[in-house]
Amino acid sequence: MSKELGSERLGDLYKPGGKVRRRREWRGLRDTLYDYSRWLHIMGILAKFIIVPRNLKAMFRYRWMANYLAVPMMIDRHTAGLRGPQLRICHTEYDLITYDVAQLLSNLFKGDRHLGNDKKLSDKTVLLDENEMTVFMMGFPNLKGLSRETPSVYVSVLLNQHAVEHYLDVAQEYGLTPDVCPMPAAEAGVSMDDDFPVLGACAVQCNTTCDGSLMGNGVISKRLELEDGVPCFQLAAPMRHEADDVQEYAAQEMKNCIKFIEEKTGHKWDWDHYFKCAKQVNESTRHRQEWLDMSKTDYPQVIGANLALYTETNYMAICGRVPAFLDADRKITKLAEEAYRKKTKVCKEYRHRAIIWGVQSQYYTEFLPWLQNCWGILPLTDMLSMVSTRVLSEDDKEMAYYDMAWLNSHMIMRNRTHGGYKVLLDDLWEFCEEFHADMVILWEHMSCKALTGMHGQFEEKAREKGIHLIWVSHDLMDPRVIPRQDVRDDVNRYMRTVLREEPVDPSLEVLDDVHSW
Ligand code: SF4
Repeated sequence: MSKELGSERLGDLYKPGGKVRRRREWRGLRDTLYDYSRWLHIMGILAKFIIVPRNLKAMFRYRWMANYLAVPMMIDRHTAGLRGPQLRICHTEYDLITYDVAQLLSNLFKGDRHLGNDKKLSDKTVLLDENEMTVFMMGFPNLKGLSRETPSVYVSVLLNQHAVEHYLDVAQEYGLTPDVCPMPAAEAGVSMDDDFPVLGACAVQCNTTCDGSLMGNGVISKRLELEDGVPCFQLAAPMRHEADDVQEYAAQEMKNCIKFIEEKTGHKWDWDHYFKCAKQVNESTRHRQEWLDMSKTDYPQVIGANLALYTETNYMAICGRVPAFLDADRKITKLAEEAYRKKTKVCKEYRHRAIIWGVQSQYYTEFLPWLQNCWGILPLTDMLSMVSTRVLSEDDKEMAYYDMAWLNSHMIMRNRTHGGYKVLLDDLWEFCEEFHADMVILWEHMSCKALTGMHGQFEEKAREKGIHLIWVSHDLMDPRVIPRQDVRDDVNRYMRTVLREEPVDPSLEVLDDVHSW
């Protein structure tokens, strides 16, 4: 127990069978005090949120709101083992994400017909699909783009692994087959269970992920349109998103979507605001590329969960519309550059350099810090963080439609699960070379059709290139099917039997966290 990396047996912090940990991690005086100050800051955000009577009412109206009690614990899980600059980078990200989600919730409840019923706010709200890049909101500075699925499903599971089990059961009770991906199934379940806030002048849904997602959207849009009177636009992104001959169609779809929003809200598209946001997206891309460049060296700084969750939020939900994210990008780069100059390590031992590929388990996103703390496997980057690096035009209006369409088609979950062999397989091996990776951790989301059937091709190439390929099975949002320990055991088994290694921190190899948040 000291300020040194790996000085604490992290597995000892878990209370067997418990929801929360035994105690907080001791990181040396300076880092423990810093960590505690961020804990207080998060408690402050939560307190400010809950003293609004409408938000308190929402705790009782919406079943999924109880998961937000676990925010501090979720941050603890993602900061496990971190010290110095990595701890600060992590908190910079989570402070902002927590604040942003609290704002999203406050706005949803304010406009919600069940709670605040603020018609003015509702009339300038566009409901967003959680699976879309919110690019088409970049030119509407006076409208609110709010996603209902993000806080009720996506963030809820991040906070509490068991968060959406109830909604999965509801969807199945209504006849949905149990082998559907838990994400769209849970979203449909929330809608069936009457557990979405109801508001909005209109909604925009998308086809960016898969047929499962289209099914979920179908259920939700029928309710929105036929029961709540909220018209929906279906924004269709092309499947072969890299091909030249689909770009014109995709740009036209973007024009149609913007026209739909203008008609339904009475607000006009503002090019000045769009280009301001485009500049911010470009700067965020430059920062991310700098972080990735560091990860190609012996001294990576922004990796694993620090990279993955922040990139997702920054590109999907923000899309250049919130200046605070640019401030955070700059702060993270400054911290990372300083740490890089000092050759600061992110964990105790570096044994393997890994690329994380496939769709991550949402109920176990802290698996990435576990990899580095338990086995010394550096999760350098992941599939979802290798999002578009295209520089958006900052002044050409026609080109802007193509840029928006490009970003939308390259939404983080689908930019590699759709688009063909090149983006899913060939690019992976190129990244392995660029990042000097000797290992690939391949998430196998068992209900995801997108990667099914590719096993042999991944294995054949990995063997040819001498890369250790570890399949890690999960069921995205349903830990009842594959618990967290089974996820860990896929790695434990490979490390012990194939590589004959002993863990860096043996206390983490087997954890009793099946009931934990
Ligand atoms: S994880 Fe796979 S099955 Fe689930 S929504 Fe994404 S692409 Fe579809």
